[in-house]
Amino acid sequence: MNQELVKDFKFKKKFGQNFLKDENILRNIVSKSEIDKDTLVLEIGVGAAYLTYYVSEQAKNVIGYEIDESLREIIDDQLKDRDNVEIVFGDFLEQDVKSKLKEYDYKKLYVVANLPYYITTPIITKIINDKLGVDKIVIMVQKEVGDRFNAKPNSKEYNSLTIFLNYYFDIKKIMDVSRNCFTPKPNVDSVIVEFKSHKKYSVNNEELFFKLVRDSFKFKRKNLRNNLKGYDLDKIESALNKINKDLTVRAEALTIEEFIEISNSI
Ligand code: SAM
Repeated sequence: MNQELVKDFKFKKKFGQNFLKDENILRNIVSKSEIDKDTLVLEIGVGAAYLTYYVSEQAKNVIGYEIDESLREIIDDQLKDRDNVEIVFGDFLEQDVKSKLKEYDYKKLYVVANLPYYITTPIITKIINDKLGVDKIVIMVQKEVGDRFNAKPNSKEYNSLTIFLNYYFDIKKIMDVSRNCFTPKPNVDSVIVEFKSHKKYSVNNEELFFKLVRDSFKFKRKNLRNNLKGYDLDKIESALNKINKDLTVRAEALTIEEFIEISNSI
């Protein structure tokens, strides 16, 4: 990997351009992700292709998305010895990824990304909504965002996003990454989080389930009776009674399993 390539590059804050330069961490991400020659990797936010360089060593193919066209030459140079990488320039959020995947043959599909915080949730939401069939997402985010993904009931970070993500994935922290491992150095430390796809939950009506969860958390200080006006409160109350709770409970105290129970009963 050649870090000299960025010596004249003007890093753009608006795209969250802090490149991960620590080669040990880069290697570690690849080995802990268990990427192998059956794996197609979607990499979101290629940057100077530091991570792409190591990922493409182990993966069958890599499709990398990068919004900043001015990185083209650097990326081409960095990956000149690789014939299994395709780079797509553009905003990942606007890409027809499903059509792109049809051009590839693979057994496992992983997403690897090191993202600016403001785009993390929209990107994960797109991956879920596009129904790409992703087996695993390995994502590096700033520490506070990482903690929120895996928040437990009754904690400050627990919200409807936590439930949405845990409905689809087993989420675990892989490792902390110090701000010193990046260039330019950001103001925050990061964490690498793994999302492994699972199918352990089933609800009768997914749309209703997600709406119920969102509405339950609408006003954090309010209880379910107040947040769920307009729902059949008698049915919700009897579902809550089965778990020894009632309509005075707040959303933050309910587990994903309990939300599923309520959703399936209305
Ligand atoms: N993967 C590289 C690394 O680890 O060094 C770069 C990481 S840097 C934090 C994030 C990269 O994502 C930047 O290169 C930025 O230009 C790119 N990016 C930001 N928003 C994007 C978007 N919507 N679609 C595609 N790439 C984006």
